[in-house]
Amino acid sequence: MSDNASNGEKSRVEDAYYDQARYVRNGHYEPLLSEKDQTQVTIHDDDSPLPGHLTRDTLELPGLSEPELARHYTRLSQMIYGIDTGPYPLGSCTMKYNPKFTEDVAALESGAVHPGRSPETIQGTLELLYRLQGYLAQIGGMDAVTLQPPAGAAGEFVGIRVANAYHEHNDEGHRDEVIIPESAHGTNFATAALGGYNVVSLPSNDEGRVDLEALEAALSEQTAALMLTNPNTLGLFERDITEIAEMVHDVGGLLYYDGANLNALLGRARPGDMGFDVMHYNVHKTFATPHGGGGPGAGPVGVVDELAPFLPAPRVREAEDGYELFDPEQTIGHVHGYQGNWLVLIKAFAYIARLGDEGLLDASAKAVLNANYLASQIDYDVPYGPFHHEFVASAGEQDAADVAKRMLDFGVHPPTTKWPEIVSEALMTEPTEVESKETLDLLASAFRRASASDAETLETAPNRTAAGRIDQTSAARNPRLSWHALEDE
Ligand SMILES: *Cc1c(COP(=O)(O)O)cnc(C)c1O
Repeated sequence: MSDNASNGEKSRVEDAYYDQARYVRNGHYEPLLSEKDQTQVTIHDDDSPLPGHLTRDTLELPGLSEPELARHYTRLSQMIYGIDTGPYPLGSCTMKYNPKFTEDVAALESGAVHPGRSPETIQGTLELLYRLQGYLAQIGGMDAVTLQPPAGAAGEFVGIRVANAYHEHNDEGHRDEVIIPESAHGTNFATAALGGYNVVSLPSNDEGRVDLEALEAALSEQTAALMLTNPNTLGLFERDITEIAEMVHDVGGLLYYDGANLNALLGRARPGDMGFDVMHYNVHKTFATPHGGGGPGAGPVGVVDELAPFLPAPRVREAEDGYELFDPEQTIGHVHGYQGNWLVLIKAFAYIARLGDEGLLDASAKAVLNANYLASQIDYDVPYGPFHHEFVASAGEQDAADVAKRMLDFGVHPPTTKWPEIVSEALMTEPTEVESKETLDLLASAFRRASASDAETLETAPNRTAAGRIDQTSAARNPRLSWHALEDE
C-alpha cells in the first residue's frame, strides 16, 4: 500500500501528523554546526599570563547568527519523539503526559533545601514527606511507607529484602524461593535473583491469568513470596486474588504487589485489601514525573504492620511538636541518600493533592476506558479481554518489531513489542488516561495502516523519520561516541 493511497480515512489531523513526520525525514538532514560554517576567529589577548606556547592567536568557530543557531537547535529538537509531541502508548511503562504545574512546584525555591540540614530547620520538607507517606499508604491500603527507593526496580529489591528480613526474624530463613508468573516484568526475576532467591516460574491459564493449580503445585515451605502485578501485564484483573492471597499465606509466604499498573485501580481497589503484604509504587508512572529515557523516578515501598519494623531508615513520623526522622527497630538499613529522589516525590505529592479523591477515580476510569476503546478500533487480533488500563494485541504473521517501526511513519510512538511472550508478536498497548478520543483515533489509524502495509514496506520502515532503520546490534557493539570517531575511520 502506498502511503498516500490509504483507505480514504485520513483526517486533517492525521495529515498534519503525517506531514510533520515527512518534513523531518525528507531532505532535512541537519548538519553539525562545524559543518555549516568554519570561521577563523582572531583572539586578541596580549595580556594572557600563560606562556606563549600554551596560547593561540586564532580559533575555528562556526560563524553563525543567532537565528541560525536558534533554528539549528529547534530543528534538532523536532527530530526526536516525546510525550510533548504525540501519544506514547508503551504498555506497562505508563508514558503519559504529566501536567507542567508539577514541574513548577518542584522548582519552587522553598523546595531547594540541603538534605543535611537538621530536622528542626526543615519542618516543611518533612511534613510534605510525611503526608506523601500517608497518601500512598491510603491509596495502596498499606500501613507504612518508605519513600527512599529511587525506582520501581529499586523498590522491588527493598521489598524483597524486607520480606527476607521478616522471614529471618521469624526463624524462617530456610525459605529460598520466590514465585513469579512467566508474564511478569523482567525486573521481578532480577530482583528475586539479586535478593538471593531461586525463581519459580508460574505459567498462566487459558485466560491469561494465574493458574491456581500450578500455583498450588509451586507453593511450599520453601516459598518466601509470590510477586504479582494486578491487573497483570496482559491488562487483566486477577479475579482470584483473594484466593491466591489465602493460598500464599497458608504456606507462610508473603504476597508482593508490583505497582506499575496501579493507574488501573486508583480510588477503586487497593492491593492491601486484596491481601498483599508489601508493594512498590512507580510514582513516575502512576502520578507525575516524565520518565522517558530513564530519567529519575521514585519507587516508594508500602508494607503491612508486621513488616514495618524492617523498612529502610530513616522514615518520617509525627512528633510532639512537628516532624522527626527515626530508624525502624529492625531496619534493613539505608538504601538511598537521605529521603530518596526529593524532587520526584514533590511532583507525586503535588499531583495527588491536586487530583484529590475524585481526580484519582477519574484517572483510573479513563485509563481503562481508553485501553478498551483503542483495542476495539484496531485490526490486529486481541486475544484476551476485557481489559483494564492496557491490552496486548498480536501482530499475527507480521513481525511486531516491523510494525513498531512502521507506526513511526505515521507520526506516533509504537507500543511495547514482543512482551509478554504468552501472546505471539505482542503489541502491548497502554494509551493512558490522558489521551483524548481524537488522539486515540489517530493511534488506531496508525495501527490499521501498519496492519495493511505490504511486507517490503514493513521491512524497510521507518521511511519518514529523521533516522531510518538502525542497525541496533552494531550500534550497541561499536558505539561511535564522538564526531572524531567518525573522522578517524
Ligand atoms: C516499569 C516496571 C517495573 C520497573 O519499574 P522502574 O520504575 O522502571 O524501575 C516493574 N514492573 C513492571 C510491570 C513495570 O512496568
